[in-house]
Amino acid sequence: MTESPSRVAIVTGAGRGIGAAIARKLAGDGFAVGLLDLDEAGAKAGAEAIVADGGRAIGVGLDVSDAEQVEAAVAAVAEQLGAPTVLINNAGITRDNLLFKMSETDWDSVMGVHLRGSFLMSRAVQKHQTEQGWGRIVNLSSTSALGNRGQANYSTAKAGLQGFTKTLAIELGKFGVTVNAIAPGFIATDMTAATAERIGMSFEDFKKAAAQEIPVRRVGQPEDIANVVSFLVSEGAGFVSGQVIYVAGGPKA
Ligand code: NAP
Repeated sequence: MTESPSRVAIVTGAGRGIGAAIARKLAGDGFAVGLLDLDEAGAKAGAEAIVADGGRAIGVGLDVSDAEQVEAAVAAVAEQLGAPTVLINNAGITRDNLLFKMSETDWDSVMGVHLRGSFLMSRAVQKHQTEQGWGRIVNLSSTSALGNRGQANYSTAKAGLQGFTKTLAIELGKFGVTVNAIAPGFIATDMTAATAERIGMSFEDFKKAAAQEIPVRRVGQPEDIANVVSFLVSEGAGFVSGQVIYVAGGPKA
C-alpha cells in the first residue's frame, strides 16, 4: 500500500445527467476526474468546466461495452491524472418495450452497456485500486431492479448490478476497496424526459404525476445522487460495502 492513495476518480456516462453531476461533485471533493462518455464532446465540455473552476479533469470518448476502448480510456486517465482509485459505473441506456415487442438488440444493448460495461470498467480499474491498497466502486442500479413494466431488459440489468456489487465487495474488500450500489428512483434527466416523450406526456406533467407518488413529493435531481456518491467514496464510508442504497424520496419505487 502506498503512503497516500491517489485521489483520481473515473465517472462513466459523465457527458450529461447524473454522471455529469457526480463528476462535478467529486471534483469539488478534491478528486481529479476522468469523465468518460460515448459522447466525447460532452465529456470534454464537462472536464473543461471543472478545469475552469480550478479542478483537474479530462474528458475521454469511449463505448464502455468495448474492452479495448475501456483499457485505452483507463490507461489515458492513469497517464494524465494518476492511478484511478474511484470508479462510478454510471453509463446507461434504456430500450423499453413490452416483452412481446422487445427485440434481441433491445436486450443485448442494455446488457452490454450496464452489465458488460460495468464489468469491463471494474476489471480495468481494480488493477490500480489493488496496487494503491485503497479504492471505491459505486454502481448505478435503479428502483427498476424491483420490476417495472416495459423494462424486462433494464430491470434485469439493474438487478444484475446488485449481485455484481455484492460479489466485488467480497472479492476486493481485503485490498481496501469498498463496492456499493445506488438505486435511484425518478431523477429528472434526459433519460426520464425520453420516457415522457415515449408515452406521449410533456416532461412537466410527467414529473408532476411522478412527484405525487413519491413520499417527499418531488422528483429527484442529479445532485441527490451525487451527494450519496460523495459519501460512499469518502474515508468515513470505509465500513460500508456491498450495500444497495435506494435514493428515491421514499422506501420504495
Ligand atoms: P442520461 O441522461 O441518458 O445519461 C447517460 C449517459 O451515459 C449519456 O451521456 C450517454 O452518452 C452515456 N452512455 C450511454 N451508453 C454509453 C456507452 N456505451 N458508453 C459510454 N457512455 C454511454 O441518463 P441518466 O438519467 O443520467 O442516468 C445515469 C445512470 O443512472 C444510468 O445508469 C441510469 O440507468 C441510472 N438511473 C437513472 C434514473 C433516472 O431516473 N434518470 C433512475 C435510476 C437509475 P450519450 O449522450 O452519447 O448517449
